[in-house]
Amino acid sequence: MLQYPNLEQALKYHFGYDRFRPGQRQIIEDALQNRDLLVVMPTGGGKSLCFQLPALIKKGLTVVVSPLIALMQDQVEALRNNNISATFLNSSLNAYKVRSREEAILNGKVRLLYVAPERLLSERFLPFLDLVHEKIGISTFAIDEAHCVSEWGHDFRPEYRQLKSLRKRFPDIPTVALTATATDRVRSDIIQQLGLKQPSIHIASFNRQNLYYEVRSKTKYAYAELLELIRETEGSGIIYCLTRKKVDELTFKLQNDQISVLPYHAGLTDEERTNNQTRFIRDDVRFMVATIAFGMGINKPDVRLVVHFDIPRNIESYYQESGRAGRDGETSRCTIFFSFGDIKTIEWSINQKTDPQEQLIAKQQLRQMIDYAEGTDCRRTIQLGYFGERFAGDCSNCDNCRHPKPMQDWTIEAMKFLSCVARCKERFGMLHIIDVLRGSKNQKITQYEHDKLSTYGIGKDKTLDEWRILGRSLLHQGLLEQTADGYSVLKLNALSWEVMRRQRTVSLAVPVAQKITLTENNQKATESEILLQRLRSLRKQLADEQSVPPYVIFHDSTLKLMAQVQPQTLAEFAKLSGVGSHKLSQYGEKFLAEIRAYRQPGVIEQPVNSTPSLNLPSDTELFTLQLHQQGLSVKEIAEKRNIRPTTIIRHLADLIEKNQSIDLNQLVPLERQQKIWQLLEVLGDISLTPIKEQLGESYTYDEIRLVRGKWRRENRK
Ligand code: ADP
Ligand code: ZN
Repeated sequence: MLQYPNLEQALKYHFGYDRFRPGQRQIIEDALQNRDLLVVMPTGGGKSLCFQLPALIKKGLTVVVSPLIALMQDQVEALRNNNISATFLNSSLNAYKVRSREEAILNGKVRLLYVAPERLLSERFLPFLDLVHEKIGISTFAIDEAHCVSEWGHDFRPEYRQLKSLRKRFPDIPTVALTATATDRVRSDIIQQLGLKQPSIHIASFNRQNLYYEVRSKTKYAYAELLELIRETEGSGIIYCLTRKKVDELTFKLQNDQISVLPYHAGLTDEERTNNQTRFIRDDVRFMVATIAFGMGINKPDVRLVVHFDIPRNIESYYQESGRAGRDGETSRCTIFFSFGDIKTIEWSINQKTDPQEQLIAKQQLRQMIDYAEGTDCRRTIQLGYFGERFAGDCSNCDNCRHPKPMQDWTIEAMKFLSCVARCKERFGMLHIIDVLRGSKNQKITQYEHDKLSTYGIGKDKTLDEWRILGRSLLHQGLLEQTADGYSVLKLNALSWEVMRRQRTVSLAVPVAQKITLTENNQKATESEILLQRLRSLRKQLADEQSVPPYVIFHDSTLKLMAQVQPQTLAEFAKLSGVGSHKLSQYGEKFLAEIRAYRQPGVIEQPVNSTPSLNLPSDTELFTLQLHQQGLSVKEIAEKRNIRPTTIIRHLADLIEKNQSIDLNQLVPLERQQKIWQLLEVLGDISLTPIKEQLGESYTYDEIRLVRGKWRRENRK
């Protein structure tokens, strides 16, 4: 074994990270004890490191079994960028390449070998492994995506079953099985099928803390909301649709709106698909509109937004698909647009299934998904509960926790609705009932003379969506029934009559218009944003030179640190998380040069304590200034310029700091200014969050930012 003072130092040296993610250290210690291991961690949990670091410390070759060529190539590329000698053998290589790689292995030049299971177990390959075992030793078999061994998983591969024979051939070599699949059944299957011997089992929490979950109703403004979400996203995103047709339509619309986006679905040629995927991974294009065919085998760690523009089929797939966001642990957002119309489409496709058992399961799963979408509880509680993990709620990182929907008394509306069902003689579905309530003039209504009913037109004050929410909720609360014969005819029950007799009240969680932005996390100084952009372009340029994805050079989190800390020397640079020994020597000087060039645009040294930005307003700030001076409010300026109000606030704060004539009193009431000012005097020029914490809920980041602009100006003199 190689000796390091401690595991943290080995981690920093090879991978550049400062600390282990939860669970990693323990797993690595067990691996170093040559124990068999079962590692269950959610996507993005950092499974790979659990066998990669031991592979560098232990003697001999680590053989990694991985089901997808794309995954192997990705991991090998990333390892090589840390100067770790890894290689793969798969069907994409010609005989010559295979031979030279095998030679390198036998010469002990390779630490990690990635192979597909079918190759590993082939007649030709097993004797080669014997030779490796004899000459240099095999330290571990790491079985990635180990759920492929189980028929109960979603991704069964018969080849994985044969891996057990490795056990027989090499009984002393420890096996590490890794998966992100959460169900018990699959876990025990893995242990059994792979013949793990008294494995040390590590099951991490499936809570992905960095993901913000929200469900929005898919109203006629959904597209505009999507566009806003996309424009607000710094980085990449995936937008899932149910059908190819929808993918094509949405891609077209977004492209028309100047969004950098490509489609992905089974209707494209293999070449188009691969091409689009590569361009996404390399950051040549920022968004992908796709069917759920997209995403398996994609390791892109910096996806910042995953939108389900149509409701997902079930909670488990939702968890996996949304889980493609934020693998690197950075704040990311997962949004579902939910409409009852989509449910019809899915129900229709479920009804096409021939196996009644399958139909039943699919319907039940869809039901759970709808409950999730309509639920008012913490989204995490519902998701994790699905996997048998208890979560107390109040995560403060989902829509329901951050913006609890107010409960309202809708008894009167419920009475109207139910009596309309009664008047229509319990022979119609929800849409018809709502049409009657809203006084629609369609043919079906006149045909049945439902325009003559006493309930006709008594619900014009509510929208179609509102009535639907009520109708659905009545069904959920068991205050109304629906036939399961495919026609979904509404039927009354005993509870319905209690409501109509005013013996029972009905409350409803009313959806609030959702315009939620991740404010706290988006509070970054404008200055470092500009630098960040420059660092991103440098990273992209370096990545293109080597034809690798940009994240292989440095992760977003490392770039952000660079922009924040602005290191001046290699020693300072080396301290950043994500900078290991190799990346330091490879890229350190280049990034330092960029930071220096940014900090010193001319020869003039910036005075200490001042922000690096020049003291003249930029063009965009000037434009905001002009509109402000014309008397427009922040909101009006934002609308006129089609940018976010927070950005306008930033302009105004910077303008104040740059001594431009802005009337602060008009923006922040005087006594509030004084309160913030006092705190600034005490705390000094720090970031907004601690100031806000001191001031409490009633103060906004915007107010603090504006006053801080003035405070900076005064304190600079
Ligand atoms: P998984 O296979 O569990 O989905 P990965 O092994 O791909 O996750 O890791 C997800 C991301 O997290 C990768 O980009 C990896 O480099 C990063 N990562 C892993 N361990 C750490 C760590 N200790 N500190 C910071 N980043 C890490
Ligand atoms: Zn929550």
